[in-house]
Amino acid sequence: MTEPQPRRIAVVGAGIVGLATALSLQAEGHEVTLCDPREPGTATSFGNAGAIVTGGVVPTATPGLWRNVPKMLLDPMSPLKIRWSYLPRLAPWLVRFLDAGRASNAERISGELATLTGHCLDAHHRLARMAGAMDIIKPVGWLKVYRNRAAFDGTAYDRGLMDRAGVKYEVLDADELRQLEPGLSRDFTIGLFQPGSSFVSTPYTLSQAYFRALTERGGRQLREEVTSFTFEGDRVTGVVTAQGRHAVDGVVVATGAWSRGLARQLGHRVPLDTERGYHLNLAWGDGPVLNRPTVIGGPQFVLCPMADGVRLTAGVELAGLEAAPDFRRIKALLPLAQQALPGLSGEITREWMGHRPSTPDSKPVIGASPRHRGVWFAFGHGHMGLSLSAISGQIIADLVAGRAPTVAPEPFAIDRF
Ligand SMILES: Cc1cc2nc3c(=O)[nH]c(=O)nc-3n(C[C@H](O)[C@H](O)[C@H](O)COP(=O)(O)OP(=O)(O)OC[C@H]3O[C@@H](n4cnc5c(N)ncnc54)[C@H](O)[C@@H]3O)c2cc1C
Repeated sequence: MTEPQPRRIAVVGAGIVGLATALSLQAEGHEVTLCDPREPGTATSFGNAGAIVTGGVVPTATPGLWRNVPKMLLDPMSPLKIRWSYLPRLAPWLVRFLDAGRASNAERISGELATLTGHCLDAHHRLARMAGAMDIIKPVGWLKVYRNRAAFDGTAYDRGLMDRAGVKYEVLDADELRQLEPGLSRDFTIGLFQPGSSFVSTPYTLSQAYFRALTERGGRQLREEVTSFTFEGDRVTGVVTAQGRHAVDGVVVATGAWSRGLARQLGHRVPLDTERGYHLNLAWGDGPVLNRPTVIGGPQFVLCPMADGVRLTAGVELAGLEAAPDFRRIKALLPLAQQALPGLSGEITREWMGHRPSTPDSKPVIGASPRHRGVWFAFGHGHMGLSLSAISGQIIADLVAGRAPTVAPEPFAIDRF
C-alpha cells in the first residue's frame, strides 16, 4: 500500500536550505508554509561567500588536522579557533570531528559529498529559472591563489580527493592568473581554478528571489518560532508556536545551526554544532577589479566581488551559538586583504558573523525521519549550505513524492551518528 501524499507541509527555517526546499516542494503541488520568526535569508545564509562550489569535495576534517588543535586553542590568528570556555561542551563533537578526519573516513566522506556536489548547480539553475533569478548566478568559477610552490604543494591532499571525485580544475601559472584576475597582487604566482563553479553576487538577493517565487505561487509565511510538534500515533499533525498549533500533514526541519533542539524533540540526538564565520563588507569605491570569489591561500580568507562591495570572509570559530562575536581576527586580516588586492578600500560598511550548521563529518543531514511519518530533515550543511541547498530540497521533494531520489540519501541519514 502506498502512503497518502502529504499536502500541507511546514518548512521550518527560512534560510537558503529551507527556501530551496519549500520551492521544490511547492513545484510538486504541495501547500507550503515557511515558518521562521526572522525575515527569510537573513541568518547564516545572508553573509556567506556566495560560491556554489561544484568541486567542494574536501571535508573540513582531514588527516593530520588534530596536530593543529593546540594552535587553534592558543593562537588568536589561527584560521581555526576554539574558545577555551566552550571546549567542555564541544569535546564530544570534536572527538567525532577528529575521527572523521582519519584517512579512510575522509576519503569515504569526500566520495559521498561528491554525489551531492555533482548535482548542486543544476538544482540551483532549476529553481533560479522558476524564480526568474538566473542572472544572479554567475558562471565565473572558484579560484584559490598561492604565493609560491611550497604553499601550493600544501593542497596536494585536497587535489587527490578532487582527482578521485572527478572534479575538473586547472593549475594556473602567474601569466594565466594575471589574465583571469588582473587586479590581484603580482605576489601570487600559482592558482587552482575550478571553472565549473558559480557565484551568487548577493546571496540575500537569491534568498529573496526564491522567497518571492514561493509566495507568488501561493506559499504562506508564518513569522513564528516553532517550539514543538503534535502527533497522531507516529504521524506528525501540527507545528506548535507561541501563537498556537498549526495543522500540517508534513514537516521539514531546516533550521540550520539551531536544529539540534527540534531534532531532539523528534527523537534524534544529533551532534550538531556551529562553526562561526565572519565577514567584513568593504566599499567598492572606484577600487580594484575582482571577477570571482578568490581564496587567498596561507592566511585562508576569501575575497568576493559582491554587488554591495568586496566581501572579506574568513574564520572557523568553535564557540557555540550564544557567545558574542569577536571581530579581532577578521579586522586584523584587512591589511593582508589590501595587499592581496591592491586598491581595496579599508572602509568597512558591514561587520557580520554567522553560524555554519556543522556536523562533525562535514555531511548534511538530509532525509526522512525513521521515527515519525511525515517528518523530513534538511540541515547541517556546514561550509556548503548555499551550494547544496537546492539539491537538498530536490532530494526532500523526491522523498516526499515517494520517488527514488536524485541522489541516494543513505549517507546523509539522521541516524548515522
Ligand atoms: C563566512 C561564511 C562563508 C560561507 N561561504 C559559503 C559559500 O561560499 N558557499 C556555500 O555553499 N556555503 C557557504 N557558507 C555556508 C552557508 O552560508 C551555510 O551553510 C548556509 O547559509 C546554511 O543555511 P541554512 O538555511 O541551513 O541556515 P540559516 O541561513 O542559518 O537559516 C536557518 C533559519 O532557521 C531559523 N530557525 C531557527 N530555529 C527556528 C525555529 N525553532 N523555528 C523557526 N525557524 C527557526 C532561523 O531564524 C534561520 O532563519 C558560508 C558560511 C559562512 C559563515
